[in-house]
Amino acid sequence: MKKLHHKYRSTWIDIIFSVAIILLTISAFLLVFPTKGLLSKKEHPSSNANSPIQMEEIESNYPGVKIVTKTSNDPYSPFAIQYPQTNYTSFNDQILTYITEAQNQYIQMLESKRQKNAKTSGELNISFETITHHSGNYSFVLVTNMNFSDVEAGTLEIRSFHLNPENGNHYSIEDLLHNDPTKLEKIASFVRVAIKEDPSLAGHIQEKSMEMYTQPFWNNYRNYAISDEALLFYFDEQTIADQTVGPPIVTLPIDTVAPFLIDVFQPIKPVVPNEDYPSTETPTKDEDDSTQDQTTTHTENEHKVETSKKLVALTFDDGPDPKITRQILDTLKKYEARATFFMLGSRVEYYPDVVNEVIEAGHEIGNHTWNHADLTKLSADRVQKEIESTSEMIEKISGHKPEAFRPPYGAVNKTVRFQTELPVVLWDVDTLDWKHRNPDTLLQIIKEQTKDGSIILMHDIHEATADGLDAVLSYLETEGYEFVTVAELNQTTD
Ligand code: ZN
Repeated sequence: MKKLHHKYRSTWIDIIFSVAIILLTISAFLLVFPTKGLLSKKEHPSSNANSPIQMEEIESNYPGVKIVTKTSNDPYSPFAIQYPQTNYTSFNDQILTYITEAQNQYIQMLESKRQKNAKTSGELNISFETITHHSGNYSFVLVTNMNFSDVEAGTLEIRSFHLNPENGNHYSIEDLLHNDPTKLEKIASFVRVAIKEDPSLAGHIQEKSMEMYTQPFWNNYRNYAISDEALLFYFDEQTIADQTVGPPIVTLPIDTVAPFLIDVFQPIKPVVPNEDYPSTETPTKDEDDSTQDQTTTHTENEHKVETSKKLVALTFDDGPDPKITRQILDTLKKYEARATFFMLGSRVEYYPDVVNEVIEAGHEIGNHTWNHADLTKLSADRVQKEIESTSEMIEKISGHKPEAFRPPYGAVNKTVRFQTELPVVLWDVDTLDWKHRNPDTLLQIIKEQTKDGSIILMHDIHEATADGLDAVLSYLETEGYEFVTVAELNQTTD
């Protein structure tokens, strides 16, 4: 009996020990690899209150840009990450790829550090700054700061991303400088002077390394931002200066660099309503080929209409937009005005209902390409795809084939013309609505420039345009104009 009792007790002890060992193993595993848990949760961000990762999405002050904030209060591997998201998948993917890589690097470094010292903790912060340019092109500057408890100095990295949230355009440093290495050489020489004259870098410049990282290679200058005041370049830590000064930022005044930049990024000039003034839709191509087609197409559209009533074709580009386009439709209806909407295939796909509302109201729909690309920069195949896919999407949604084509920026050349049978429709009145965003200026420009047979360029993605349209229509009506579509205008000309 005693023996038996003893045997029972030892079995109980065995069981208790085994359970304890299993529990200890599990908790040890969790302590060593808590990031495994983080990683799997990261793929399924949930609103679960127990989840260490919180996600929040808010509208920014910039139209079309949302700010996503992702935080974790995990005691060993906390992070706070903030990044922009837009309606453009490729832009969003670029940002997410960068963020994911930074997070992975952080977690891997932390894991290897913790294998040496289990108490090591880290901190990852990613924030961003939006630098705006009057052209609507934004530079998003992401700053990644990584710190670990076992080292004094953290690392700081700056990366730039670019987008025009209104039309999906984005410009690389090559694009900005006409893809011209001689222009980059000029910029590189300015950068070197600026580095040498920067008092915050005095005594910290690493001469040889600086020469290397400022060489006129595109890759050295890929992290840039452009505002109306300056062109900025971001260099990595320990490339041109020692780590104590962090990643150097070089600022070149816009007037210094303007002669090397494409038209889109030229400094803002006072608004002189004048046909010669470079418009929004100014081609973003080299001087060499910008003159030829621009002038010929403009004369094409100088319609000499000889009818009793004066005619005007209102055109709205870059839509549809669920709010602005509908507001414009309401105003057009009030004046029984008909207009032409040059739509982007990518937006047509997003807002099919708006497309059908435009057609049902009796307006004309034109093709404005899929992505608002400068077609003169694309191969013939891609030009065809940009135009074809847009026409197909419009037809699929509405049953109507677009019968007019307007190239983004008014940029056309022989290759572009050869890829479509649709007539190329430009404009003679550029309201510059995208730039001033002011109903009064919109009316003023239209008053000064509209004549019989005019084609007026506006954009149904700007609130100010929708707000100012009533006054525009009221004015043109009292001036005796009839509002027609581009097709109708062309019927009255030869
Ligand atoms: Zn456009």
